[in-house]
Amino acid sequence: MDTSPLVDTFGRAHDNLRISVTDRCNIRCFYCMPERGVDFMEREEILSFEEIERFVRVAVRLGINKLRVTGGEPLVRKDLPVLIRKLAAIPGIRDLALTTNAVLLSELAKPLYEAGLRRINVHLDTLDGERFRQITRRNDLERALAGIETCLRLGYGPVKLNAVAVKGLTEPDVVPIARYCRERGIEPRFIEFMPLDAQQIWDRARVLTADEIIRVLSEEISPLVEISDRDPRAPATEYRYADGSGCVGFIASVTRPFCMNCNRLRLTSDGKLRYCLFAIEEADVKELLRSGASDDEIARLIRSNVKEKWAGHEINSVRFVPPPRPMYAIGG
Ligand code: SAM
Ligand code: SF4
Repeated sequence: MDTSPLVDTFGRAHDNLRISVTDRCNIRCFYCMPERGVDFMEREEILSFEEIERFVRVAVRLGINKLRVTGGEPLVRKDLPVLIRKLAAIPGIRDLALTTNAVLLSELAKPLYEAGLRRINVHLDTLDGERFRQITRRNDLERALAGIETCLRLGYGPVKLNAVAVKGLTEPDVVPIARYCRERGIEPRFIEFMPLDAQQIWDRARVLTADEIIRVLSEEISPLVEISDRDPRAPATEYRYADGSGCVGFIASVTRPFCMNCNRLRLTSDGKLRYCLFAIEEADVKELLRSGASDDEIARLIRSNVKEKWAGHEINSVRFVPPPRPMYAIGG
């Protein structure tokens, strides 16, 4: 097997894999899922834990050493701690993290910790019950907050918080979310609304930009100073408060695309490999896994997917075509 690093035609080395374990979710954020009538994948279409583990073991031989488990909502996947234990035990994995909406964390944070998970990103856009309901079409704010507290109590670290920023909606949440995080030692990461929603409601005018949020936080909390020596391949641009009271990240895919530093690949829950969130084409890993392919063949598929990787998404150009899958079916 050729075990040289996964370098694409633009010289980007790939060491980071996001694994979606389900397309299902217990809430319905409007920028990701429709309110009803979602056509979820059948159980047999979804990769088993054994299939995911096999794929990761091959990917690790090609230089993948960071994993993030996501979805849909990963905590609705039955027996998730069993998968986490398998992934944490793979030699060569230096970093294992999970992204969740936190609603089920009160029950699952402990078994996940015991299975070897240490890093969690929680997703919460607002501390206001009514806006939470408006965004997610569910009434689970209290459960999500309790889930986050459970995580902090158990000693997960660092806990980061993803907040999607939507113009005309979440402006009143920016400062309360930032304060909530500051008080708890959580790093908030404001994510610009991206054209990945299931109903194609995205509009550039609805992007609450990183610059706008930086201005508000600098005025209301403390001036924000960009951290210059951060890992250039991390998607978030990071700032710290001038008063030393913490950091804030921005995933500004629309106004500050970071494609030329991208080191990520994505495996969907139905076993398709994608070199970009916005990719149109994908490679069929499941077909190989289920047809008795050798590790070599799987490795070749990964390598050829990386070779096909484009320079970057074209959200800001007229050529932009939204991907055929919405966010929940890709794995954010
Ligand atoms: N259910 C988990 C959650 O919400 O964190 C994991 C999957 S979710 C698809 C991953 C991340 O995608 C979330 O943190 C959410 O902030 C982000 N997201 C979903 N739709 C988005 C959109 N249209 N634009 C920007 N971010 C989005
Ligand atoms: Fe579910 Fe996450 Fe999508 Fe919200 S962003 S609907 S929590 S998968």
